[in-house]
Amino acid sequence: MVLAILQARFSSSRLPGKVLKKILGKPMLLHQIERLSNSKLIDKLVVATSDDTSDDMVEKMCLDNNVEVYRGDLNNVLDRFYRCAKYYNPKHIVRLTGDCPLIDAEIVDNVIQYHLKMEGDYTSNTNPPTYPDGLDVEVMKFSALEKAHKFARLPSELEHVTPYIRNNSGLFKQFNLKYKVNLSNHRWTVDEPKDFEFVQEVYRKFRYEKNHFSMQAILDLLERNPYIQEKNYHILRNEGSLKSYKEDKIFLERLKMRYKKSEKLLDRALKSIPLASQTFSKSLTHYPRGVSPFFLEKGKGSRVWDVDGNEYIDFVGSLASIILGYCDSDVDRAVQEQMKKGTIFSLPHTLEMEVAERLIDIIPCAEKVRFAKNGTDATSASIRIARAYTGKEHIAVCGYHGWQDWYIGSTTRDLGVPSAVKELTHGFKYNNIDSLKEIFQEYELAAVIMEPMNTEYPQNNFLEKVRDLAHENKALLIFDETITGFRYALGGAQEFFGVIPDLATFGKGMANGYPLSAIVGRSHIMQKMEEVFFSGTFGGETLSLAAASASIDKQIDLDLVQHLNSLGSYLLQRLNQLIIDEDLGGIFQTSGHPSWSFLQIKEQDEYAVSEIKTLFLQEMFKAGFLTHGAHNLSLSHSKKDVDDLILTYGKVLPLIKQSIKRGDLKQKLDCEPLQPLFTVR
Ligand code: PMP
Repeated sequence: MVLAILQARFSSSRLPGKVLKKILGKPMLLHQIERLSNSKLIDKLVVATSDDTSDDMVEKMCLDNNVEVYRGDLNNVLDRFYRCAKYYNPKHIVRLTGDCPLIDAEIVDNVIQYHLKMEGDYTSNTNPPTYPDGLDVEVMKFSALEKAHKFARLPSELEHVTPYIRNNSGLFKQFNLKYKVNLSNHRWTVDEPKDFEFVQEVYRKFRYEKNHFSMQAILDLLERNPYIQEKNYHILRNEGSLKSYKEDKIFLERLKMRYKKSEKLLDRALKSIPLASQTFSKSLTHYPRGVSPFFLEKGKGSRVWDVDGNEYIDFVGSLASIILGYCDSDVDRAVQEQMKKGTIFSLPHTLEMEVAERLIDIIPCAEKVRFAKNGTDATSASIRIARAYTGKEHIAVCGYHGWQDWYIGSTTRDLGVPSAVKELTHGFKYNNIDSLKEIFQEYELAAVIMEPMNTEYPQNNFLEKVRDLAHENKALLIFDETITGFRYALGGAQEFFGVIPDLATFGKGMANGYPLSAIVGRSHIMQKMEEVFFSGTFGGETLSLAAASASIDKQIDLDLVQHLNSLGSYLLQRLNQLIIDEDLGGIFQTSGHPSWSFLQIKEQDEYAVSEIKTLFLQEMFKAGFLTHGAHNLSLSHSKKDVDDLILTYGKVLPLIKQSIKRGDLKQKLDCEPLQPLFTVR
C-alpha cells in the first residue's frame, strides 16, 4: 500500500492558522487535498496533525470533509509521522506538507513511480531541488522511516522527519527525480503572508479550472503575469530548515557542555586524589572521559543529579548499596534521631547487639555476628577466622571479595601483593566442581569463599557439591553475600538456594548506603573472634547501625524481596524480548538474578568489549541513565523506570549493533575508548 501522509498544524510560526486560511472560500489545506485526490498511485491519504488543542479545528475540518486524520506529537513530527504510518502499516509512504496548496498530483505520481521502479529506500524531487519550492514530494519505505525514528535525535531530524535519512546516505538507498530544467527559484510554498497572497492570486486566475491546473499551467500563467511572482520571490527557500539547523548546532554544543563542570572538577580532583575517587569502579577507569559525569551532587529515590544538573535514573545504586532508594525518609529519620545522641562512644552501644540479634533472626547460618565497615573488612575477617579455626592457610576463591592482599593477589591487578601471600590463594570456576577438586587435591584448604551467585545460576547442585567437598576436606564454606544479602531473600542467597555455609559476609544493602558490613556464622567458629585479632575504631559506629535497623524493618514491612524479584523479572523479560526482536543475541545477553541482573556484552571480532561498552555508556549517560550494565534494583525503582530503561535500550542497543556491522563504532565515540579492565565475574 502507498500511504500519503500530509502533515499539517494550525500553529505554524510565520503564518499562524495558514492551513485553514481560505482561498476562494475554502481552507487552503482542503485545496491541497483535492489536488492530491487526482493522484493515481496514492492508495490512501491521511492528515497527520498534532494532539494539541490548537489542532482541534484542523481535525474537525478534515472529518467534516471525509478526510482521515491522525493526531500525534506537536513538535516531534518524526514521531507523529512514524506512529501514523505504523497505524496504517503501508509498505511505502509519501510525505507531503500542508503548506503546498499548488502541489501537482502528476508530479507526486512521477516520484512514486520512480521510487517503485528503482526500489529505493527514499526517493524525492528535492535533493537537490529542480521543481518549484512547494511541489516537494518525498517517498520512503516504511522500514526506512522506522529506522529514522529509532536513531534520529537532532532537533532538525525530529522536526523535519526525513533529514536523518538524507544525512545518512550510506544507510539508505536514495534517488532524486530531476526536472528537465531547474525551476527551484520558484516559490510556491506558503510560509509567510506574502506567499499566501501569491497562491491566492494563482487560484483566482484558475477559479474556473476545478483544481486540475498543472505545474505547466501555472508556469504559463506566471510567464503571462510576472507581477504575481513578485509578491514573494525575495523570501529564502527553506528558511524553516535553516532555523532548525541552528537548533542542531545549539543541541550539539549543549551535549559538549553536558559534563563541563564534572570535567573541570575531575581535573582538580586528580591533583589531590589518585584516580580522583576512593572506589575503583566510580573512577575514570569505568567512566570514559568527555562523555560521563564524574561527580554526583544529590539523590532521591531512584534518581541522582550530577554537578552539571543532569538527572539520571540510577541503576548502579551506589554499587548496589542503595537498596531502598536515595534519602529514604525512614532510614534518614532513624539516623537523625541517633545523631542527636552521638555517633560513636568510648564503650559499645546497645544498637550493636540489637542489630546482631536481627541478623541472627533472619540469616540462616548466623548464630554470632561482628560488624565492620566495608565488605573487604568482613571477608578478610572470615578468612582470618577460617585459618585460625582449621589451622590451615590455603584458600579457594570464586568471584570478587575486596581489595585485601589475600584476595586481590589472585587477580591480574595484583601489583604490590607479596608472592608469599599470592601463593596461598587459588581461584576456581563457578559451576565447575572439578576446578575446585583440583585445588583440594593439591592443597590443604582452610576455606572456600565464594559469591553464592553472581551472573550464572548454580547448575547440578553446584553449591551443595562445593559445601560437601569443603566439609569432606575439613575446610570452611564461606558465602560472600556482600551483594546477594537482603536481595535474593531476606536471609540472602543461602536462604534462596537452601545451602547453608559456615560463615557469611554481608555489606552493601544492609544499611541502605550507610557504611556497615557484617560477618556472621556458626557460634563455635565465630567464637574464634575472641582469639584472633579483629578490631576497628568504627566497627560499632551507631549511625550506620541505626540505619541498618530502620532499613531491615522497612525491607520486611514492604516486602522488598518480592518487589525486587517481580520488577527485576519484568525487566529481564522485556530486555530478553528486545534482544530477540532486534536480533541482538550475537552482541548482548542477560544474566543474573532479577534483583541483580546484568546486560552483558559479548566479545566481537572487530571490537573489544571495552570499546563497545564505551559507546554503550556514552549513549546511556546521554539518555539520563546511570548504569554499568548491571541492574542493581532498589525499592524506589518503579515499573516506569524500567519501561524508560527498556525504551532507551531499544534505541541504544540497535545503534551499537548497527555501528559494529558498519564498522564505524569508533567514529560514534565522542571520547577515547575505555581500557580493558580486569574481570572477576
Ligand atoms: N564482596 C563482594 C561480593 C563485593 O561485591 C564487594 C564490593 N563490590 C566486596 C566483597 C568488597 O566490599 P567493599 O568494597 O565494601 O570492601
